[in-house]
Amino acid sequence: MNFADTEVVASILGKSGFEPADDINTADLIMVNTCSIRDNAEQRVWGRLDLFRSIKRRRPSVVIGVLGCMAERLKEQLLESDKKVDLVVGPDAYRDLPALVTAAGDGHKAVNVLLSREETYADINPVRMDSNGVSAFISIMRGCNNMCAYCVVPYTRGAERSRDPYTIVDEARDVFEKGYREVTLLGQNVDSYSWSSGRDGGKSVTFPDLIEMVALISPMLRVRFSTNHPKDLSDELLTVMASHKNICRHIHLPVQSGSSSMLQRMNRKYSREWYLERVDSIRKYLPDCTLSTDIIAGFCGETEEEHLDTLSMMKSVGFDFAYMFKYSERPGTRAARHYKDDVPDDVKTERLNEIINLQNKLSAACKKKDIGKTFEVLVETEAKRAIAGRTMTGRTSGNKVVVFESDSARPGDYVTVIIEKATSATLTGKINN
Ligand code: SAH
Ligand code: SF4
Repeated sequence: MNFADTEVVASILGKSGFEPADDINTADLIMVNTCSIRDNAEQRVWGRLDLFRSIKRRRPSVVIGVLGCMAERLKEQLLESDKKVDLVVGPDAYRDLPALVTAAGDGHKAVNVLLSREETYADINPVRMDSNGVSAFISIMRGCNNMCAYCVVPYTRGAERSRDPYTIVDEARDVFEKGYREVTLLGQNVDSYSWSSGRDGGKSVTFPDLIEMVALISPMLRVRFSTNHPKDLSDELLTVMASHKNICRHIHLPVQSGSSSMLQRMNRKYSREWYLERVDSIRKYLPDCTLSTDIIAGFCGETEEEHLDTLSMMKSVGFDFAYMFKYSERPGTRAARHYKDDVPDDVKTERLNEIINLQNKLSAACKKKDIGKTFEVLVETEAKRAIAGRTMTGRTSGNKVVVFESDSARPGDYVTVIIEKATSATLTGKINN
């Protein structure tokens, strides 16, 4: 999401005459787009600000800016720190950046951390940065209304709002015409996407409607999306997915915990049983769909039994992939205000390690089942460490990375690959003509 936001920032600044610098040591303006989701994300930013400070010591005219969630969370505190920050801009204030940068260049401290109920940057055409020219992120909504007890996002990114669907379709069509072959629609909870113009008798466009509109641009354009919320994932979405082959067979469905009592403390608004029922439904509509998830180890009050419920949940579902985290208390959240962060750090680490070890086994088992199968692969890049000949990487519809040799395949091509080998992270195969 920050990647997509940075592309919006680049577009806004580009329109005001700013150009990207090739080297941080020659840049007049240095900004870091920040994440507050866990303390270690913020610690990395503080480290980066030390580096910027040393550049500013050598070249005092450089303007240093902090953008995004940390700017929103810490506001003026960042200017008051010893890091020599000149500019603090929250996620809804990027249109104000050209004026703020000018003010900061004139020696004023510049801050805008106002959150908005409307801002979606709908009319901004993002500048694709660091792109492989094959896949692009498209932000379809901003903010979040869910108030999961551990999560800082509703405080740093504000209330949920959906972007005009016609601007989303236009952006997707534009990247397709430029040669991209995959778009990923982004939102904190894409299932609650809802947009109404007030016309058409007040009928609103839902996420299944939107994804169908994007899928119809071309059968050659793959459509991905993230993130779904288990409480809102609908059969209607699964039906639309099943009827369009170019909507990718992958759902990222963060479970967070396998224990109903824990899920209640987290304010996730679903139970273990509900989650398993949603997984059954995915398997029914989309038998070849891969599933990935997010898991938090050691949230407030987590008992050994609740932790074991998470392990058994992982086994029951057999996730293909997972992002796994140690709980990190975030100031101001419901958990920080009402619960004790009482699982000792060594226990959190031990539980996280158990979760990671199990997931490695599950990922390896899922990949092993793919040996001998044939997949349509969208070619992305030439592999960094070519073994012999020209080694390419791409992805299956289920988001699995495939490595194969080919002298003719180009990024953006679709090729058919038969899988010969598998590790827990990658599939290796050969082109099947
Ligand atoms: N909107 C998405 C996820 C946003 S944050 C959703 O609801 O699924 C990405 C992931 O970070 C979350 O799914 C959660 O697993 C993790 N996360 C969020 N807050 C955290 C915290 N305080 N400590 C550890 N992990 C956290
Ligand atoms: Fe955070 Fe929950 Fe919103 Fe996801 S759904 S961003 S975890 S509050």
